[in-house]
Amino acid sequence: MTVTADLLIRARRAVTGDAAESERPLAVGVIDGRVVAVEPLADSVLNGRDTLELGEDAVLLPGLVDSHVHVCEPGHTDWEGFASATRAAAAGGVTTLVDMPLDSVPATVSGGALAAKRRAADGQCHVDVGFWGGVIPGNTPELEPLAGAGVAGFKCFLTDSGAPDFPPVDAAQLTGALRALARLRRPLLVHAESARAAAAPAVATAPYAGRGYAGYLAANPRGAENLAIAEVIEAARVTGGHAHIVHLSSSDALPMIASAQREGVRLTAETCPHYLTLTAEEIGDGETACKCSPPVREAANRELLWTGLRERVLSMVVSDHSPCTPAMKAPEVGDFDLAWGGISSLQLGLPLVWTQARRRGIGLPQVAAWMSAAPARLAGLAAKGKIAAGYDADFCVLAPEESFVVAPGRLYCRHPETTPYAGRRLHGVVRLTLLRGQPAGPGRPRGKLLRRTQ
Ligand SMILES: [Zn+2]
Repeated sequence: MTVTADLLIRARRAVTGDAAESERPLAVGVIDGRVVAVEPLADSVLNGRDTLELGEDAVLLPGLVDSHVHVCEPGHTDWEGFASATRAAAAGGVTTLVDMPLDSVPATVSGGALAAKRRAADGQCHVDVGFWGGVIPGNTPELEPLAGAGVAGFKCFLTDSGAPDFPPVDAAQLTGALRALARLRRPLLVHAESARAAAAPAVATAPYAGRGYAGYLAANPRGAENLAIAEVIEAARVTGGHAHIVHLSSSDALPMIASAQREGVRLTAETCPHYLTLTAEEIGDGETACKCSPPVREAANRELLWTGLRERVLSMVVSDHSPCTPAMKAPEVGDFDLAWGGISSLQLGLPLVWTQARRRGIGLPQVAAWMSAAPARLAGLAAKGKIAAGYDADFCVLAPEESFVVAPGRLYCRHPETTPYAGRRLHGVVRLTLLRGQPAGPGRPRGKLLRRTQ
């Protein structure tokens, strides 16, 4: 039977989101914004009213799913907002983002707060947007209504989040939340740094030094992550809940995560482009653009995180796009104590990761699995993250061998000047982003607000 699609994509090079498959020539048919057929290009009998013909210099990827984005609207729209964040996402090949529950006002810790966030986002989004809910002390009665209203899952902190309306939970509250969420079949994302370790004076290490990166690193040791992760593992083990470690920085924790996964504990973990790109050795005094928490660590730590990805202990790479105003980075004084901890990299995630991956002999099928398929799975987005029949027609067309130098003027987030990547040469130019079969951004916002239903 000959099918006439609305859009036919003929790609000499395509990856589907499955790490085990290699790049291959595919024809992809799209009807009503959905993929209806995927065929080997040579045998394809698909027809299309419109045809997109890709040459040897471009690869068709599933649209990226970034499950770790702080949009900050409503409340801190001067930091970032739905219009600017989703415009940056579209320019970076990201077709779905999932918004974190803190850094906006209100924080997404109740059904009412979720409704306020959806109202703020409505009609502004250039890509699809989902939402995480928050777990804070005392909001247990809100978890079921939030899950019913379609949050993808929940996030909590084990140490001070920096946001007064998003306090951390203790070990008993963590266990209680995982137990409740196991019943609701939602994951709990955990910012795993230990409050106990953070409160203890680090007598063995250097004092907290204003402009010196070494001082910042010493004040935020691997041990604070390791201790918290051990606690998360035990809570997941006793409850059967799914715990997900966000933004892993300490490579020390990889063996215990791997061992828990082998034992069948429901535990997943992500890392971020900055931990896979930057190194503590290269961060100069006063370079607060590089401040995030947990911190970027040494080059040897970075290599072990790459090993963790290769060995599938870490299953995904997401941005932790965490914006702020330029002044919040304390650029004049360059003081790591005063500066906001967070890096904005939504638009650059793919080229950052690809630049490092290709140096290490890792191919695009693996990168797509880390940046599309795995985050879609975490957020329960059944129609996202892969190129396959029945999935949304969300694509990123990447020129992987082309390079560019990061110029803040070409970034679309609200405050592009806060990027630590200015002047860096990166491989991988995003030529086109398609959301449900049509170009995403800068025209009329077509992004939908997503609800998790399963
Ligand atoms: Zn974050």
